[in-house]
Order: sequence, then structure tokens, then C-alpha cells
Amino acid sequence: MLSVRDLHKFYGPFHAVRGISFDVAREEIVGFLGPNGAGKTTTMKIITGYMAMSGGEVTVAGHDVVSDSLAVREEIGYLPEHAPLYGDMTVEEYLNFMAGMRGLDGRRRKERLEYVISVCSLAPKRNKLIKTLSKGYRQRVGLGQAIVHDPKLVILDEPTIGLDPNQIIEIRELLKEIGAKNTVLLSSHILSEVEATCARVIVVDEGRIVANGSPSELEARYAEDAAYDVVFTGAGLPTIEEIRALEEVAQASETVRAGERLEVRVEGRDGADLVGALARLAGERGSRLLEASRKKTTLEDVFRRLTGGKVRLGDAPSEAPDAVSAVAADGTLEDDAQ
Ligand code: ATP
Repeated sequence: MLSVRDLHKFYGPFHAVRGISFDVAREEIVGFLGPNGAGKTTTMKIITGYMAMSGGEVTVAGHDVVSDSLAVREEIGYLPEHAPLYGDMTVEEYLNFMAGMRGLDGRRRKERLEYVISVCSLAPKRNKLIKTLSKGYRQRVGLGQAIVHDPKLVILDEPTIGLDPNQIIEIRELLKEIGAKNTVLLSSHILSEVEATCARVIVVDEGRIVANGSPSELEARYAEDAAYDVVFTGAGLPTIEEIRALEEVAQASETVRAGERLEVRVEGRDGADLVGALARLAGERGSRLLEASRKKTTLEDVFRRLTGGKVRLGDAPSEAPDAVSAVAADGTLEDDAQ
């Protein structure tokens, strides 16, 4: 359904997207996860045809986004990070207007309008002006316009940003409904968001993909790197600096130090006898290692490791091809095209 190959984007000299490649199959819900500035919005804008790429190839349902952009727009529904809603229209007027913009008319337009109002639970607000709606309802209107023409691929940029916890739960339910019938690519920098809605996660950082798999695959892949929660007791507790100085320790942080008890979260280096080294250190300082329990790896650990600059997964990122550099050299600074 969606194929992205070696995508690059420069903003002037700044290389924001650095050779991203991935596929999304029919009826998949894929989460695009990454910290602020990772390149998620830029990639989505290029896929939707709202922004020009600097290099690479993107096809949607077999149509090339550059040479066949009109066909691509018909196949895509897009909810940008800041959905451009018309505040002085009622919900119904706006959705009807957007259905018209998407080329629907007659009975089909009426049917799709009613479907969207129903699936997005907008019936109680259909005659209200958009500017009077809460953020949660506005987001539903935004989602409604994204699916009104029954697109094959729905692209949602941070669909729950700025919503309160109750609204987030409601929008997640709606996303699941949308995901049951459509292929969805959804961006977020909130992990629980992606975990709750997506079967597959693509993690991006600094313009590159650093992981691609189901949450459980990623957790399993990183399980060996799991941290230990360690407890020392006794009068001679080691300092956190002494723990960090052990060659078996990759990193350590102190969680509790009270009286004769010290709790530390420690990550070992691959293949090292971490627990043995900690026990020896405790003995040397006059305390003992009371407990060392392996912490279960969560998707959050994976995300933190991948985007914290410690681990970089996958193929070595290729340098930008010369053709791409040439685009950068002309210094074009692109605004958000709408
Ligand atoms: P966020 O979660 O904050 O929305 P993101 O992953 O969507 O982040 P992008 O918005 O794609 O990231 O931005 C990627 C990088 O490109 C950032 O460093 C950003 O500052 C830069 N950038 C984005 N738009 C422009 C622009 N129009 N001109 C120059 N630089 C830009």
C-alpha cells in the first residue's frame, strides 16, 4: 500500500530526513514513533504530497507521489498536526464541504457524510460551529475529514496531541475503528499511544529509522540489554561513581540511598558478569549485594535506548547521494506547503 525508498529531505543545508525506507501493507496500522524533530511530520508531508522531497521514491497504492500526485491524493486521507478547520462552519457544513472537495457528490456524498458523523460520534455536535467545540471534538472533525472519501491510506500526525486523558481514550477507540477498515500510518512521540493502537512500530531518530517491528519483537530483541534493579545493604555502601567505574557496567543510576540501603538501576555490558562484579565491589566496601533482579524490557526502554544516542540499529545509514547534496547546495528553505 505504501512504499518509501531512500527518502531524503533538506531544509536549506539541514538534512532532516536521511535515507528513510519502509513499507506499509494493506490494513496494517503502523506507528511512526520518534522524539521531537526526528522527521516524522516531514516524512508524512512528503507521503501526502504536501511537500517536495529532496531525493528518494514514494508510492501509494502503486502511484508515484511526484509523477502521479493527483491519484495519490485520492488514495490518501490526511490529518495534519494542526488540522485546518474552518471555525465559522458547522460540523456538518465543513464535512460536507470537504466531501465535495474530495470529489464526492449525490447519494454517495450524503452516505459518507452520515457515516463519518456516526463513526466519529459527532451527531450531538453536527449543527454546532467548529470554533465552539472542545479540542477533542475538533480532533474528531479532523479525523472525519481525513476519512470522508474512504481513502485506502490514512495518515495521522499526532492525532491525540493536546487532548486530555479521557479524550485520548475516546480518540484511540476511534482510531481502532478507522484501523479496522483502512491502512493507517500514525505518528506520535508518545509511546503508550503507539503501543495501544499499532501492531507495528517504526522508530525514527535524527532523520533515520532506528527500529522497525512489533512492540513484542522490539522488546525481545533488546531483552539481553535489560537493566538490573540492584539493592546493596550495609555500612560501607559503594558510591554511584564507583559502580559506574566498573568495566562490566554500561551505565548506572541511583534510585534510593537511605541509611544502610542503596538501590541502583544498572545496565551491564554485553557478556559481562555484572552481578559478580557488583557483589565483589560491595564486599570490598563493607556492604553486601542483597538483590539483583532483572528488569523486564518494555517498549519504553527500547525507545529510550534507541533515541538516547546509545544504540543505532539496522543498516549503516548511507550518505546522501550527490544528487541530493546538490539540492541542499541550492539553499532552498521550504515552508510548510498546504
Ligand atoms: P515533532 O514531534 O516535534 O513534530 P517531527 O519528528 O515531526 O517532530 P519534523 O517536524 O519533521 O519532526 O522536523 C524534522 C527537523 O526538520 C526538525 O529539526 C525541524 O526543526 C526541521 N524542520 C521542520 N520543518 C522545517 C522548515 N520548514 N524549515 C526548516 N527546518 C524545518
